[in-house]
Amino acid sequence: MIDRRHSLVIAAALAASLALPASAQEVVNVYSTRHYDSDLLLYEAFTEQTGITVNVIEDEAGPLIERIKAEGANSPGDVFLTVDAGNLAAAAEAGLFQPVESEVLLTRVPENLRDPENRWFGLTQRSRVIMYRRDVDVTGLEDYEDLADPQWKGMICIRSSGNVYNQSLVGSMIEANGEEATAAWIQGVVANFAREPDGNDTAQIKAVAAGECDIAVANTYYLARLARSDDPADREVAEAIGVILPNQGNRGTHTNVSGAGVLAHAPNRDNAVAFVEFLVSDQAQAIFAEANNEWPAVEGQGRAEVLDQLYGEYTRDPINAAAFGANRSLALTLMEENGWK
Ligand code: FE
Repeated sequence: MIDRRHSLVIAAALAASLALPASAQEVVNVYSTRHYDSDLLLYEAFTEQTGITVNVIEDEAGPLIERIKAEGANSPGDVFLTVDAGNLAAAAEAGLFQPVESEVLLTRVPENLRDPENRWFGLTQRSRVIMYRRDVDVTGLEDYEDLADPQWKGMICIRSSGNVYNQSLVGSMIEANGEEATAAWIQGVVANFAREPDGNDTAQIKAVAAGECDIAVANTYYLARLARSDDPADREVAEAIGVILPNQGNRGTHTNVSGAGVLAHAPNRDNAVAFVEFLVSDQAQAIFAEANNEWPAVEGQGRAEVLDQLYGEYTRDPINAAAFGANRSLALTLMEENGWK
């Protein structure tokens, strides 16, 4: 893995070093799994407001977590920014975060979208929903539980059990239905696979559109991204897809977060808190969510128009993201024991 330090950030840092004596330079070092140009504009806005330079190191969640662990007390990292409560819970359990008692974060981020111990805070929301090709009769397919019904034999595409989104979804099933029922559900779903898990959520959606399978499970932003693509072939895929928002008649649709926390050994702790607080500001929430076609965590802030077109209003499972995040190891074990590759 190669670190990609943005030239923009380096340029900003150089400018700051020329303008200020070294001791007066304020920085925040952000380890991020995000890679959107719009995020850089946000970081610039933070620098403008506070004078604090944002240094960003990007990588996948797994390698970043390993890196922060390896760096230990010497880590220059101040903030870890990543997706999925499973990754956030993994970082929290490894002791990588410190709790933050921030009035701003506690009042703005809804309780179910942040760690009960205040080690991480949700920034955006995404749901994991059922998608199907519009010419398929999906009568009777309403809840995640229905995916195990033999009537969908040979029809379902979903990515592997190693994927954290699936671990969180199964983690939420364990919370709702218990371990035994979830194991039986996994067996039923696996028996309905059209093929062995392969590829990411986009690959599942494309396989449904192409007729390789009929039903997929994917995060909301993947379909939104296809619907907004510059490539007409992507938009054609999106147009072929219908959406089922699961469990509207009971607990609501499984909804996950992207989020951030202040690292345990943050050398610039105050700047780190200011940075995470900035990410829940009105301005940051709207831009942050829009970048990946997600819903902002803070209610009332902007959202991508495409989300209303594709999904409208729906009931989300109000379970705390930390609860299913904490179930990810058990979820993986159950999936592996029951044939989910
Ligand atoms: Fe994703």
